Amino acid sequence: MHFDGALGDEQARPVAAARLAARARGAQGDVLSRLTNRCLAEALFDPRHPLTRAVPVNNGASVSPLPSSWPEPSGDLVAFVTRHGKQRLAAQGLSELGLHLVHLDGPDTDLLGTFTRERPREGTALDAARTKLAWGFEHAPHARFALASEGSFGPHPQLPWVAAGHELVLLKDRRTGLELRGEDLSEDTNFGAETVESLEEANDFARRHGFPEHALIVGPHKGVASAEQLEALVQGALALGPVWLETDMRAHLNPTRQRSILRAMGRCFQALASRCPRCHWPGVVVTGSLPGLPCETCQTPTRLPRALLRRCTVCGVTLEEPAPLAVAPAARCDQCNP
Ligand SMILES: [Zn+2]
Ligand SMILES: [Zn+2]
Repeated sequence: MHFDGALGDEQARPVAAARLAARARGAQGDVLSRLTNRCLAEALFDPRHPLTRAVPVNNGASVSPLPSSWPEPSGDLVAFVTRHGKQRLAAQGLSELGLHLVHLDGPDTDLLGTFTRERPREGTALDAARTKLAWGFEHAPHARFALASEGSFGPHPQLPWVAAGHELVLLKDRRTGLELRGEDLSEDTNFGAETVESLEEANDFARRHGFPEHALIVGPHKGVASAEQLEALVQGALALGPVWLETDMRAHLNPTRQRSILRAMGRCFQALASRCPRCHWPGVVVTGSLPGLPCETCQTPTRLPRALLRRCTVCGVTLEEPAPLAVAPAARCDQCNP
């Protein structure tokens, strides 16, 4: 948001205010439609998420032809290009896999798009993540693996009135071309944007969006994380008219997003740790579940899963394994608890 030319000019104020309000409204529409169309719609939804149906995951397409056997990693390097502290989220998981993180502070990942209106992302989250992988390999020539993370925010793909966040994590093996992914789709997000016309409205927006643990963006000011700073910026901007507020979705300022990234990373690292019983490669991922877990009281099949379906992304074999629970609580049974 620009405040050019309007400061201190009494006559220009109503015009500037109307212009800012129109810009804010337009921008909000832009942000939401862009996010709906480009990001969440193309996401492969987390099949374990109660709100999503199972979608087969197949990222085996990019890995042929493969060597005949998987070269086991041993102390290999993992290049991770990130500017917003996400290396801290990856370090432990990688070290448990016997891998070493190489954090690369550049190139500037904001060039691929920012969550604010300065630079909309071109293309999909997958495109952006793959560009980051390529940067990692380019800037860390000794790294066998590259890691990339990309977040998207907008209306939930099945429940458009609910905000949702989608985190995509990719891990690629330079030696074999194997690309593994982990995702997290969650309505546990503080994503939001609003035009406010008073300090009370601004404080209300802040309260509803996890402030001050989660930072806000006030007009052109990012990373606003104290009540004093928020009040000063909002009061200053209100002199010109309505003020555009949005949540700062950069990972280091957003603990809710950090948790979602951790879940996506966990799934990606689990895929690397897995071994397919048929081809012996990593890349076995949960792709869905079979409903019908019997009720503990009346044995009627419920909607809870009786089995989990896993699929090898390399050879495509589907594996069925029993769900963690043997029986469903009667509270979840349509017969016992209609
Ligand atoms: Zn029952
Ligand atoms: Zn396999």
